[in-house]
Amino acid sequence: MPANKTDAIDVRSAVKRYGDFTALKRISLTIRDNEFFTLLGPSGCGKTTLLRMIAGFEDVTEGEILLFGDGIASLPPHQRPVNTVFQNYALFPHMTILDNVAFGLEMRGKSKAAARERAAEMLELVQLSQFAARKPSQLSGGQQQRVALARALAPQPKVLLLDEPLSALDLKLRKQMQLELKHLQRETGITFIFVTHDQEEALTMSDRIAVMSAGELQQLGTPTEIYERPRNMFVADFIGETNLLEVSVDQVMNGRATCHLGGGHALTCNSVDGIGAGAKVHMSVRPERLFMSDVPVEAESLKGRVAENIFVGTDISTLVDLAEGPQFIVRTSNSDRGNKRIFEPGSEIFVNMELGAGRLLMD
Ligand code: ATP
Repeated sequence: MPANKTDAIDVRSAVKRYGDFTALKRISLTIRDNEFFTLLGPSGCGKTTLLRMIAGFEDVTEGEILLFGDGIASLPPHQRPVNTVFQNYALFPHMTILDNVAFGLEMRGKSKAAARERAAEMLELVQLSQFAARKPSQLSGGQQQRVALARALAPQPKVLLLDEPLSALDLKLRKQMQLELKHLQRETGITFIFVTHDQEEALTMSDRIAVMSAGELQQLGTPTEIYERPRNMFVADFIGETNLLEVSVDQVMNGRATCHLGGGHALTCNSVDGIGAGAKVHMSVRPERLFMSDVPVEAESLKGRVAENIFVGTDISTLVDLAEGPQFIVRTSNSDRGNKRIFEPGSEIFVNMELGAGRLLMD
């Protein structure tokens, strides 16, 4: 394939082995210029390894990584137009905030005056100008993280790598920093590659997400695609909450599949490529795409009994033991309470899927 100069990063069949252990199993993906791109997956799936290979801290065992169309294998980390923000900030404790940001620029050959001028601009960008003369220990965790960001952005990298940069912050600050990071990415136009194991964080911030598990790419797509059209069991289960039913597929036509449960109850859902008649697979349906009724709405309505209602502020999660299947979660948003009914625990009810809510999944 010819190299595409407009893609920031092109990972081509990259493999990473540590001795006998394969941390990355032939990963291919492209990251566009100006994109907020997230590598998402559970601990140990290889996110950091991939990031370190892009940064140049790890070599690529097989395959290659292109940066704006050029191979980078022979470029040492400091010659790549890439910079990294680490989880632990790694600020110099004895230097002022301004000097922390200016230091790397001086190391790259800028004069002291030019480095300080640029550092001051960067502190303005992250809204820390008034703290320029302080030492890191005199700042909060969130402010320190912003200094680390300013420092990483100062040399104007084309790509910024962020390895779980918010994980040391408490929830409220973390949410605020998520918005700030997104804003900063838009403002600077720099490609951000963000590593996290937090699916909610990934959905909130990213233009596109690569979902990884055990060294493999499971799915790549926009947050909406990943959430609404998960490809397989792993993605459906890892992203958000979902309900799973084991089904046998009877017929697939025009993107729809007719299926039945073990006891014969028929269901219709969206099909996916690669799953045909005769397959025994799982169907996934998100809790907010279900609603309850006291009488069946249609032949496909699933009979069940309410086990519990859990109030979580913006909505109510109802646990329903299905007569023919596992326990389901039905989520009713407070804003939907006019149209959708909530039933007391013990009520015999029916669970109904919104049109097009069910999806077949690859294993
Ligand atoms: P976390 O979220 O916990 O940081 P991760 O998805 O970033 O996880 P990696 O740090 O990329 O995971 O590690 C992927 C796998 O490679 C892990 O099983 C890890 O133990 C292994 N690994 C990483 N570095 C080395 C190394 N230097 N030598 C041997 N194995 C390693």
